[in-house]
Amino acid sequence: MHASEDRAQGKPFALRDHLRGLVLSLLSNQRRWEPIARNRQQIEVIFYGYDLDRVRATDPQLFVSALQQIRCGNRVMVKQMSSLAENIRTMERIASEYGSLDKFVESGDPNSIASKLSRPGAYKLRQVGFTLALEYLRNVGIRAGKPDLHVRRALSGARLGYFGGYPSEIDASVLMTNIARVSETNPTYVDNLLWMFCAKNYGEICGAEPRCSLCGFASACNFPRSGLVATP
Ligand code: SF4
Repeated sequence: MHASEDRAQGKPFALRDHLRGLVLSLLSNQRRWEPIARNRQQIEVIFYGYDLDRVRATDPQLFVSALQQIRCGNRVMVKQMSSLAENIRTMERIASEYGSLDKFVESGDPNSIASKLSRPGAYKLRQVGFTLALEYLRNVGIRAGKPDLHVRRALSGARLGYFGGYPSEIDASVLMTNIARVSETNPTYVDNLLWMFCAKNYGEICGAEPRCSLCGFASACNFPRSGLVATP
């Protein structure tokens, strides 16, 4: 939300801010976020304050080891760290083509920019799928949701029932944008609320094993009446 407010107030995001957004997005991949948030300053030191040249020149294994030491790794971090140098080159090329990365990330709606960054093509970032691309965009202040597992499960037909079955990433992202428009708020805020409602070490209400007795949505929710399984 801070990044979103900064961008709304006209703050420019430098290339190192974009690298920070990308790295934090990669580190969030399929793991608990709280340890990453708690170690954010340490992570900034590990990545030299997100100095592009120093990150590019560093042996990826050093990043892997440093992240393991503070327990902020994930299952694909060797591939992620090995892709950083190429991803920095791609980001610099995009910046040169559009005038800046800020202009690129603002050149279309978040879902279309996330598609460019995550699908095969000239702007594809390695190890970045659609959801992580949206996370990166949010980290640099673009008003968007991140349709991760928690959010998609809560919105699914098995739970709050915004969809008949299990929503795709893009379906969930479009829904959050629509909810934000109707409620005249920021999609990033809607996403944060939904995510905190679910995530471990945060609200922890509608997680893998939901605590429905604590939930204000229980009377409107399909769970467990639907008999559906809230997974892809
Ligand atoms: S009632 Fe249970 S399953 Fe439904 S939204 Fe609340 S916590 Fe999740």
